[in-house]
Amino acid sequence: MTQLFSPKPIPKVELHRHLDCSWRYSTLVELAKNFKLIDSTEYTEVESKLLVTSPMTDLGSVLKKFTRAQQLLKNEEILTRLTFETLEDAYNDGIRILELRYSLNFIQEGSGLSYDKIHMALLKGIEHAQKKYPIATGLISIFQRDQSKDHLQKILDFTIQNKSVFIGADLADNEAAADPNSFKWLFDELYEAGVPITIHSGETPDSGAPKRVKDAIEILHATRIGHGIQIIQDQSTIDFVKAKNVHLEICPISNALTQAFANRKNHPFFDLYKAGVSVSINSDDPGIFNTYLSDDYSYLIQNFGLTTTDFTKINKLAYDASFISAVEKKRVMPIL
Ligand SMILES: [Zn+2]
Repeated sequence: MTQLFSPKPIPKVELHRHLDCSWRYSTLVELAKNFKLIDSTEYTEVESKLLVTSPMTDLGSVLKKFTRAQQLLKNEEILTRLTFETLEDAYNDGIRILELRYSLNFIQEGSGLSYDKIHMALLKGIEHAQKKYPIATGLISIFQRDQSKDHLQKILDFTIQNKSVFIGADLADNEAAADPNSFKWLFDELYEAGVPITIHSGETPDSGAPKRVKDAIEILHATRIGHGIQIIQDQSTIDFVKAKNVHLEICPISNALTQAFANRKNHPFFDLYKAGVSVSINSDDPGIFNTYLSDDYSYLIQNFGLTTTDFTKINKLAYDASFISAVEKKRVMPIL
């Protein structure tokens, strides 16, 4: 019988978290009330309007929740606060290395701010947090599959101009409808500019998913995949991912909520880990799921009996796959 334990004190490395969906619960409620997105601060109302806490059945209502959360990203002060609180809460949850990704487009739609102002406000939050806590962090610029070429070009220019600050680039949103070749120009430029690449892929359960993961690696230069769990369907893709030493950023609770697999015990995490694939544990959108990263660890303890030894191994894999500089990683986690 596996002994259950609290994963909170484990020193953690998190590689896949959307900063723009990473609210502290009390701040989410406070701002939603101030901006009149909710009438009361009762949990039931907050949950029904802003949180995703049970497996999604109605995509329309889920998207509305993300749109409401986007409306909270109103000004620079809020962006700085969001970043500071994200890092403070992460540190208190045992996280020592945290990569945060954000979409300039998503935040601009919510705030109307320029890319420069958005980016500077986030950096200010990081600076404040790092004065107080020994946590290593870095920002990843997200490109969205449903954006126009003009928008993608603008974000590309901004990302490359700021490549000394961005630690990487990502491609997100519905991949089933998108041809990877239509983003080749963009990721060729990022690759040539030396920007490390991770791609959201292999998340939803359809038979085309393993091929899309392979395409993200071969066509779009990804060295890491956001999710990637559907490679479990195809042994040759598992072998390919291992041979290329590509890392999978796995988000257990997020996958449960999007119904990426049949039931909790069927999450592919354990099989991929045992097959020798480089994997990490991540929270994805904790502000919307009302979770901490430790909840994802608890999920794996409860469903697969993972131990502290497993978590040490997995955090070492995440540490090695992180885009943050070796010096910075060593500063906060010298033992890995
Ligand atoms: Zn994600």
